[in-house]
Amino acid sequence: MNLKQDKHLPEDTRSCKNVAVLGATGSIGTATVDVVTQLNRVDPEFRWHLCAASGHKNTGLLAKMAKDLEVPPDRVVLSDHQNSNAVEEDVAQIRELGSRIDYGPEALVSVASDASVDIVVAAIVGRAGLESTLAAVEAGKRVALANKETLVVAGPVVSQACQRSDAELLPVDSEHSAIFQCIQSAPSPPKKLILTASGGPFRTWTQAQMETATPESALAHPTWQMGPKITIDSATMINKALEVIEARWLFGLPAEAIEVVVHPQSIIHSMVEFEDSSVIAQLSPPDMRLPIQYALTYPRRLPCPSPDFDRTQPWELTLEPADPERFPGLQLGFEVAATGGTAGAVLNAANEEAVALFLAEKIRFTDIVTGCRDVLRNHCHESNPSLDRLLELDRWSRQELRSRFNL
Ligand code: NAD
Ligand code: MG
Repeated sequence: MNLKQDKHLPEDTRSCKNVAVLGATGSIGTATVDVVTQLNRVDPEFRWHLCAASGHKNTGLLAKMAKDLEVPPDRVVLSDHQNSNAVEEDVAQIRELGSRIDYGPEALVSVASDASVDIVVAAIVGRAGLESTLAAVEAGKRVALANKETLVVAGPVVSQACQRSDAELLPVDSEHSAIFQCIQSAPSPPKKLILTASGGPFRTWTQAQMETATPESALAHPTWQMGPKITIDSATMINKALEVIEARWLFGLPAEAIEVVVHPQSIIHSMVEFEDSSVIAQLSPPDMRLPIQYALTYPRRLPCPSPDFDRTQPWELTLEPADPERFPGLQLGFEVAATGGTAGAVLNAANEEAVALFLAEKIRFTDIVTGCRDVLRNHCHESNPSLDRLLELDRWSRQELRSRFNL
């Protein structure tokens, strides 16, 4: 039923939640648009307005999104001006709908800290999301964090900013959302965080098979539909390494209190063990709309577009230990979570660069992790770096990774 067309309904007096989606055209971004649209149908308390959307260069999808939304976004952010007829048409269409268009990283920061924004969904991929996510934290917003790389690069800086501003940093990553949900009802702190990992497309592959893996095979994830960077990270299990570091900063527990277990069905999203050895888990079919919605509506739970379990069918849940021999990238996450300081920025940048080179077929799949490990070993660790220093090391690490492969 379209509420707007029903003349007999009283005027909608719900107050409004303004949501800015940075990275709106990606896998998490489009799922967020779905969630926001659905919330308007099921939430008796708030009207949900997608007030800002960024999409790097994807003007086509942004134009479609603006047209399809009941109320178009007030602001749209693109990374740069592109000279093509198709882009100009999209941009004109977005403007005709009444949205203001801004360009570049400064515009992302401006949206993230805009006084009218209540919630920032940080869904840009990679280090490119750092400044806007940090700006949202500094402005004291509720930040629905998908962009784990921000915490990997600058965990201490973000944590300190969070304390100063009283921002709410809520996880969107399904494992961290699961842990967050598991600890809600417990007054005692957890003893262990147990992150589950699907094991990715190469869970059962031998080392020799992985040496000749193609981008196509690495992009074929068995349980999740995601953007290309995180899909390759899942294949190397560097994604889980990044998540160990993310968990360290989100939940304030040391690396020794974090474990990883392989769960190929991606239904148990993670678990928490308490002092008495009781383990609490969160389960749901693999669909990111549930953790996204929980970060938006927390502490409330509302009907969600993600599917229910089909409990009329038999289903299997298996857990197996991760294999450090075939997936050495995982260990890098524990090392970096324990070391802190500059290590996260160096690992993240080397990995981003290596993933891009693998996708461009310039290096082998197994070079991703060995390259990251070597760059990490080569860097001079500093324990309390400034943000500027971290960004400097991000650039150094990318160059260092390329030079290892004579690129
Ligand atoms: P994606 O590639 O599908 O989308 C990335 C988004 O970032 C797009 O909107 C793109 O336009 C934008 N973008 C890319 N480069 C940019 C740049 N240089 N400047 C500004 N914007 C840029 O990625 P995704 O899978 O949606 O992942 C987004 C983030 O969420 C990542 O940090 C990822 O690790 C995290 N995450 C994703 C999933 C998932 O299921 N996809 C799950 C957990 C966490
Ligand atoms: Mg995850």
